[in-house]
Amino acid sequence: MEKRESVWNVQSSMPHFEKLNGSIKTDVLIIGGGMAGVLCAYFLQKAGVDYVLVEGKKICCGVTQNTTAKISAAHGLIYNELLHQAGQERAKRYLEANLKAVQSFGELCRGIDCDYKEVTSYVYSLDNRKKLEDEADALRHLGWDAAILETPKLPMQTMGAVCMEHQAQFHPLKFAAKIAQGLTIYEDTFVKEFKDHTAVTESGNITYRKVIFATHFPIDNKYGLYFLKMYQHRSYVIALENAEDVEGIYIDENRKGMSFRNYKDLLFLGGGSHRTGKKGCCWQELKEAAHQYYPEASIKYAWAAQDCMTLDHIPYIGVYGKHMPDGFVATGFNKWGMTSSMIAAHILTDQILEKENSYGEIFAPSRSIWKLQLAVNGLEAVFNLLTPSKPRCPHLGCALKWNPAERTWDCPCHGSRFDKEGRLLDNPANGDLKKSS
Ligand SMILES: Cc1cc2nc3c(=O)[nH]c(=O)nc-3n(C[C@H](O)[C@H](O)[C@H](O)COP(=O)(O)OP(=O)(O)OC[C@H]3O[C@@H](n4cnc5c(N)ncnc54)[C@H](O)[C@@H]3O)c2cc1C
Repeated sequence: MEKRESVWNVQSSMPHFEKLNGSIKTDVLIIGGGMAGVLCAYFLQKAGVDYVLVEGKKICCGVTQNTTAKISAAHGLIYNELLHQAGQERAKRYLEANLKAVQSFGELCRGIDCDYKEVTSYVYSLDNRKKLEDEADALRHLGWDAAILETPKLPMQTMGAVCMEHQAQFHPLKFAAKIAQGLTIYEDTFVKEFKDHTAVTESGNITYRKVIFATHFPIDNKYGLYFLKMYQHRSYVIALENAEDVEGIYIDENRKGMSFRNYKDLLFLGGGSHRTGKKGCCWQELKEAAHQYYPEASIKYAWAAQDCMTLDHIPYIGVYGKHMPDGFVATGFNKWGMTSSMIAAHILTDQILEKENSYGEIFAPSRSIWKLQLAVNGLEAVFNLLTPSKPRCPHLGCALKWNPAERTWDCPCHGSRFDKEGRLLDNPANGDLKKSS
């Protein structure tokens, strides 16, 4: 029987930090100690900024502990889409920002024992050669010498794969454990509410000049419309023993497809994805694929997680909202949160220091929201708000759906999740289910 937790979790020992004890003041408060929050703290500390990071539970215990940790600028077929929808300049900057993030990881990992390995990143297609050719053309147009590999080292027939060399993979928790050493962090310090530049926790208040929300899903609903601009998408992972080395990191161009990467003697298969709160193939699809392609292999670990998806597939990094100029956010990583966290740390450090950052504009949360996905998100919310069943989500009141694969109550509107006793598992809800809900 496989272990129901991520490989990283089993194989790492994280540093521990005290709980906040009494009220304090700081220039910059960072809320959330996942990859995004920890990297922001690291770069703010290097820049000499007075900051404090508070984490509601333990650092990197959220999505970051369940990532597959591919460090890549090849985010599916994003460049052809960006070229046509956002234009050459923005597409080029998105590519540059991500390549710089890959490079930053390379530099930082040089001094850290975190199983960092440079690899080629591949976007493959099972049935659409044209899409791959268009993506390779788009990349060439943006100045990247892209090629298509005819026979990627995958266990099934493909139409080839667009290659991006000099990308990477690592062990995210070994990395974060080292990076977090010496940072000013309080664990078990959950921010419950805000009162005029003061964050309220049960063990003290924190008064700040500026605040960074690195809470995965932003927790303040008053500004920024994140509850309309994002939804959450769940994915499943199995780690196989006795399966081949695929020599690289792979993602299907079809968002419902699978991903592959190795870690030591294990092969990770990712997939079974669906909007949180909706039906999906979950681990079943992955188990069937493992059985078909690697009949000799056995499943050692199985886990699942979810990420925030934006309207235009670009993260929201920058000023939180028009009426919250001292608030900043790093969210909407679209399942590419390693490079996106690094980009966020660079952009937000500059913005806190009031320095110009040439990538700030592309990721600015204030950009246009007029996309088809906005209507889908809106309709989903209206439908689930009007659905009379119980229990209800304490975030905005949507009807929760039972997820039999994981035995949890999941919200189809914004992705909050609760265990069968009603305890909060995933935000944006900020508390457990009420007994009567
Ligand atoms: C299955 C899967 C595979 C993935 N694989 C990849 C990959 O290969 N490569 C890649 O680049 N990306 C990948 N991603 C995406 C990436 O893992 C995430 O985008 C990233 O880990 C998110 O980091 P984060 O810091 O934003 O969030 P988190 O890691 O969730 O951190 C947020 C933290 O905020 C804390 N918090 C929340 N509310 C409060 C509060 N009120 N007070 C205090 N603390 C609070 C939480 O406890 C949590 O620790 C994957 C995602 C999934 C779902």
